[in-house]
Amino acid sequence: MHWVATVGEILAEVMRTGLNVALSEPGLFAGPYPSGAPAIFADALGKLGVPSAIIGCVGDDDFGKCNIDRLSADGVDISQIRILEDKITGIAFVTYYDDGSRRFLYHIKDSAAGRIKVEDLDKEFLKTVKVLHVNGSSLAINENVRKACYEAAGLVKENGGIVSFDPNLRPEILPLEEIQNYCRPILKKCDYVLPSGGEAQLITGEGAPEDAVKSLLATGIKAVVVKKGEEGSVMYTPSATHVGKSFQVKAVDPTGAGDCFSAGFVYGLLQGWPRERILTFANAMGALATTKPGPMEGSRTLSQINEFMEISNN
Ligand code: ADP
Repeated sequence: MHWVATVGEILAEVMRTGLNVALSEPGLFAGPYPSGAPAIFADALGKLGVPSAIIGCVGDDDFGKCNIDRLSADGVDISQIRILEDKITGIAFVTYYDDGSRRFLYHIKDSAAGRIKVEDLDKEFLKTVKVLHVNGSSLAINENVRKACYEAAGLVKENGGIVSFDPNLRPEILPLEEIQNYCRPILKKCDYVLPSGGEAQLITGEGAPEDAVKSLLATGIKAVVVKKGEEGSVMYTPSATHVGKSFQVKAVDPTGAGDCFSAGFVYGLLQGWPRERILTFANAMGALATTKPGPMEGSRTLSQINEFMEISNN
């Protein structure tokens, strides 16, 4: 039984060692760090001891190896990762600015990550999945990856599983109409949607946050969970609004916070916890993720998260 699976990009992140150095300028880089939103999500669950897997592709190269080594060391099932000889692993270059903003340069579309396709999905494997988590960043890669995500979500639903969706939008890369079009099929299939900031408005086209939430819930989605950075998160269901405890940390790198939050949310769902407890746990995972540079570096084991929550309560 695979409790949780995700499908999408596995990347190597290479980051500037100093602040405010444009990617167009000469300068030093650190990395590679294993990355890609779905990979960060799966890795965080693996660290919690949840049987989890990622469906994706890497190149037969060192960047692919750095991901496979990390994911397997953290307990993720890597049997659904295809290693391609004719493509290199996807890469994200990032630079950080002192106002907290980041700028990314991606090599994804024409990398191994862009080669996920319906024909390669293992249907027998997908039948065993209890929760499938889909990222909007994966839907944005290309038509083949999109179709594979829709198909995987459909198969998991048909077999009684749950689908969660993190819009993870890149409005700076793609036109809004295109984003809304590719989100629509997954919104029809998902049980939980986890937008951050103004993403609920962007995907629904509604101007006000409350109208965006209402419009999502009207489609039959069980809950909309809005991530709010250092303010934590809020869960809206058709009948109630829930908040958990948020945490104060010294944030050094926000990359991966949303993915670790999603992993914590799914973990709490699987435990059958009350909604406030699920949000508190997810907030703790999101907060901790920001405390170390590197996309996967800030995720922790279950006992470390519990210890952090305990200390923060005193
Ligand atoms: P995303 O990465 O998807 O944009 P957020 O930045 O809102 O999402 O982060 C996801 C979650 O991580 C938040 O809902 C919150 O629980 C936690 N988090 C993120 N940044 C911080 C921070 N600076 N301090 C405390 N918690 C944070």
